[in-house]
Amino acid sequence: MLSADTRLVREAPSDLLLIHAAELVTCSSAPRGYACSDSSGPLRGAAMGDIGIIRDGAIAVRSGVIVDVGATQEVLSREPLCEPSPGLPSCAASASGVPQVIDASGCTVLPGFVDAHTHLVFAGERYREHVMRLSGAKYLDILAAGGGILSTLTSTRSASLAELVAGAMKRLDIMLLHGTTTVEAKSGYGLDIDTELRQLEAAKIASETHPVDVVGTFMGAHAVPPEFAGDPEGYLDFVLSEVLPAVERQGIAQFCDVFCEEGVFSVEQSRRVLRAGIEHGLRPKIHADEIFPMGGAELAAELGAVSADHLAAASNEGIRSLARAGVVAVLLPATMFTLMSQAYADARGMIDAGVAVALATDSNPGTSPTMSMPFVITLACLKMKMTPTEAVCAATRNAACAIGRGERAGVIEVGRDADFVVCDVPAVDALPFSAGVNPVRDVVKRGAHVVW
Ligand SMILES: [Zn+2]
Repeated sequence: MLSADTRLVREAPSDLLLIHAAELVTCSSAPRGYACSDSSGPLRGAAMGDIGIIRDGAIAVRSGVIVDVGATQEVLSREPLCEPSPGLPSCAASASGVPQVIDASGCTVLPGFVDAHTHLVFAGERYREHVMRLSGAKYLDILAAGGGILSTLTSTRSASLAELVAGAMKRLDIMLLHGTTTVEAKSGYGLDIDTELRQLEAAKIASETHPVDVVGTFMGAHAVPPEFAGDPEGYLDFVLSEVLPAVERQGIAQFCDVFCEEGVFSVEQSRRVLRAGIEHGLRPKIHADEIFPMGGAELAAELGAVSADHLAAASNEGIRSLARAGVVAVLLPATMFTLMSQAYADARGMIDAGVAVALATDSNPGTSPTMSMPFVITLACLKMKMTPTEAVCAATRNAACAIGRGERAGVIEVGRDADFVVCDVPAVDALPFSAGVNPVRDVVKRGAHVVW
């Protein structure tokens, strides 16, 4: 169940003890019980399969921060947080004096999922396009019928700030119920100054009022809007001279993203956008090599992007360049699944090449309406042959690094925000295989028990 008043929950730091997790997946490479900065980077290669599993594990939380992690008996011996309560182990006590204990017997506990690539803020629906696709419609057929990204653009431009916030909050509720505790949200359905700023403002308001943390990305270079049809250079002139400075003044976005794809923006145009973003204080991210091997991965490496996303068509040299430059590859298998494509990204090749791989939903109304990270983990395993442990690493620690949250989110260790999920499966290896079933039983966000 989702807490009725999420603001109240967020503002009430609660002391809490989770005990008896059949498997507690920490995703930490640091020695147990120590806050350690070397857990702030992503895991690569074989290390993605070594994610620090503690059996019969426990977590102690005080004021929203993890204060102890280990085997249940060890943690209970170290944590005299309050007088024992009748019927309960020695445990933490909330501000109200009521002890909170989560018994995770038979369950697997993971860091809260980090959804590193979403188009969270939009208005309008596009389910009719999915029905059209079932009967063989192609992208251009859908465009001719008034669908595609421009239909979302029209709906989003006409939506008020309150409507955009309400839509985002509803989707964040669903994400939270599926274990997501941090999410990245892009603009890019306005493609004019007012709507781009309104999308980012909606993401900020949602982040301040919902338990899920929202990280904003400016993506004015998502498409060319109708008023600049046939003139992408003219549109980019407008973005760089007017929109980007306004986004910088607004101060919400942390990243700048661009859709580098045949028929959208070229590598040279993408380089121009991302360099301008850097000048305005926004770290680069890129939609790269989704359909054609354009060289988007190589551009991400050249610019030191925090992530390169999609990559289903990335070249071998592109993959090697990501590994060399330390760019996180954010893979989006739910998009390929929704488009009924078999062209999934080469996750195994990337992991073997030493690339830090992350996962995300790409949640958006057109090509990936899912909001479920457990479903993405299922696809990562069944369609991209990632192991369950690799997929969990990619959906937590590595995803946090893909959105600049590597020091706060994605790992269960002392000193971190107490963001974790209890999944009703006996082991991490069981997580992906009940496809379509939500395994999440409980969610704790910054020490607050927000889903149970
Ligand atoms: Zn996207």
